[in-house]
Amino acid sequence: MGVSWEDFRLVPPMAAKMVLDACGIQQPPVCERTVAGYLGLEIVEATRDDFADYAESRGHERTPAEGAEKLEACLCWAHNGDHCILVNQSRPEARLRWSIFHEIGHFLGGHTRAVDTDSTPDVRKRRDRTANKYAAELIMPRGMFLKDVQALDIGLSAVYSLEERYVSSMEATASRYAELHPDPVAIVWARPGRDTGANTLCVEYAIESRRFPARINRDTEVDLWTYVEWDSLPGGGFGTIPSSALHLSMDQVLNVQCIAPHGGYRFLLLLWPAEGGDE
Ligand SMILES: [Zn+2]
Repeated sequence: MGVSWEDFRLVPPMAAKMVLDACGIQQPPVCERTVAGYLGLEIVEATRDDFADYAESRGHERTPAEGAEKLEACLCWAHNGDHCILVNQSRPEARLRWSIFHEIGHFLGGHTRAVDTDSTPDVRKRRDRTANKYAAELIMPRGMFLKDVQALDIGLSAVYSLEERYVSSMEATASRYAELHPDPVAIVWARPGRDTGANTLCVEYAIESRRFPARINRDTEVDLWTYVEWDSLPGGGFGTIPSSALHLSMDQVLNVQCIAPHGGYRFLLLLWPAEGGDE
């Protein structure tokens, strides 16, 4: 008897690998419809306004009550146990793909109605994190992605080209890049600091690769513009920054590359040790 994804459904990297292998997918972009089809999940295109009606008319027991305004996709099930994914096709492609893979993640994680009743916000948050793990493994499979990461020089241009190759969002791609990078790298999302006079950035969250020697804490205030010259590359900045400026428990000079992908309010920073850069 063969081994199937069901044997590994609770281990995202293994479940994803088995599903992708079974679908014969060997290179990006991973087709969300192929994966959904293999799992017996119908993808139903509906406008946002159609969502609730459709779910009701099909006898699905769950309607997208929460966050309907920004809803991109939701997993629904019928009385006969069939599942489908409703999608809001007006959303941008990369976002929609992520949302569909996220819903597939809920399916693989067994987040079905049987365990959904009485779920608390904490439980839902935990399930969403789990669903995101499946989504990352499916949309940017680690073996494939790692090979591509290793073929590219460290830099945000690598993130851009991976984003394009995997048809993923910038944020998801940057996270995956830092998570899987074999060298010490970190990505940071930051927004302007609370003290506008000080002109600092405030860390929203950071993801470090396994070899990055310190953790970057959220809410750290960074005086980035002392070290980074904005516009030194098209639409961004580059410089070197001492790790002390990031309040890190290490002594090293770091390269920092920085862009504002969404028009200036949030900043994406990529950090990695500068050559021979001990402080
Ligand atoms: Zn979710």
